[in-house]
Amino acid sequence: MDSTRFKNKVVFVSGAGSGIGNAAAKRITAEGGMVVCGLLDESQRPAIGNLDGHVIDVARAESWDEVLGRIVARHGGLDALVNCAAILRSGAIEETALATWDEVIAVNLTGSFLGCQKAWPHLKRRGGGAIVNLSSLNGIRGLARAVAYATSKGGIVAMTMTLALEGARDKIRVNCICPGTIDTPMVAAAYRRSTDPAAAAQAAADRHPVGRVGTPDEVAALIAYLASDEAQFMTGQAIALDGGRSIDGGKSAR
Ligand code: NAP
Repeated sequence: MDSTRFKNKVVFVSGAGSGIGNAAAKRITAEGGMVVCGLLDESQRPAIGNLDGHVIDVARAESWDEVLGRIVARHGGLDALVNCAAILRSGAIEETALATWDEVIAVNLTGSFLGCQKAWPHLKRRGGGAIVNLSSLNGIRGLARAVAYATSKGGIVAMTMTLALEGARDKIRVNCICPGTIDTPMVAAAYRRSTDPAAAAQAAADRHPVGRVGTPDEVAALIAYLASDEAQFMTGQAIALDGGRSIDGGKSAR
């Protein structure tokens, strides 16, 4: 780990109160970055220790204006945005209420769109910057019985590629990560909702050729790379980080 890679860089991470966002915030801080954490509510504050944290509802434009305004006033600008905040709601097409669809699209897709849109002028003002969006393997492969979630994640891939084209001349790079299953509170909650949580966890591990699910730290390492100046030539990519699952037709090679 390079403790100076993010020296003099201001980075905002949404969804930093848990899981992948939390690991990314800590990783970028350890690499010398000035990280500002987006929290859903005050109950998440203990998870970020002494890092700077602000409550934000990513689905609300005014919430982004307020928080980014505070960041720029306090730290002088913004160099990178990591869009991690999201919710997972299951449901096949015939079971998905319009309200559920709207909720998932609002948080996952509109929330990421608003982050990109609101961060854009600040990144431009710095002469460029980086955005890392969290898609999912489900965003490129689909996920039966999770139509709203998978669709929101597919939208993030298209948005990432579009914004990479729009931002290239302004040196704004936009990439997204498509993780397989990662051991986070979001996934733990999904296991708990199943009839046999232990079997669900084992099945998730078995779906990955490497025989296990990923860790938040493994995703955080890729987030940090993509957000850093080392990734200057990489933009518009949707990178699978999945223990080989995407090349295995969804079946473990073990
Ligand atoms: P997580 O631990 O649930 O983190 C997501 C965070 O976003 C939570 O702290 C959540 O708060 C927060 N959040 C929810 N709604 C919000 C809102 N409206 N405004 C602000 N924050 C909000 O899940 P994770 O697994 O780390 O997920 C991080 C990202 O990776 C997500 O985009 C997810 O879709 C993606 N991803 C995860 C996996 C996986 O297997 N874990 C796989 C592929 C992609 P609450 O906890 O209170 O809801």
